Amino acid sequence: MARWDNPGIPHKGWALVGCVDLGEDVYGDDEIEYETCEMCHNEKIRYVHILTHPNYPGAIRVGCDCACKMTEDYVTHPDDERRLRNRANRRRNFLKQEWYRSTKGNLVLNYKGEYITAVEKHGRWSCVYRNRWINSFHGQIITDFATLKLAAFDAFDEE
Ligand SMILES: [Zn+2]
Repeated sequence: MARWDNPGIPHKGWALVGCVDLGEDVYGDDEIEYETCEMCHNEKIRYVHILTHPNYPGAIRVGCDCACKMTEDYVTHPDDERRLRNRANRRRNFLKQEWYRSTKGNLVLNYKGEYITAVEKHGRWSCVYRNRWINSFHGQIITDFATLKLAAFDAFDEE
């Protein structure tokens, strides 16, 4: 039963906790595991809007259309999705770029007027961008170039 039909679940008065992209940690050819909107069961969602309500235990994960109705805010949720979608596009473009090997043997990316230099030492990767060293990705040391590129993107995209 879709929750819109469940009298125990409030239709309005929800507050936004956050919006997540289920594709955020999916790289290359891996499949994104879409979710179904918990409220209508119709929307197959990549961008999950997480909402809470004072009269509902825990959080609910819904699609954009339901989120708009439940918070009565028709601006924030589409904006959140647009922001995440734009970031996903920027990341895809970033990951497509070719790095070249410098005369010192490091891998270098020259992108949008910026330089990122990747260094591998004893199986551990790091890179330097705007005089800042990046040695980890999500708190883990970096042991391959593919992961280094993801960490580099996060640093590059923070600006
Ligand atoms: Zn829905």
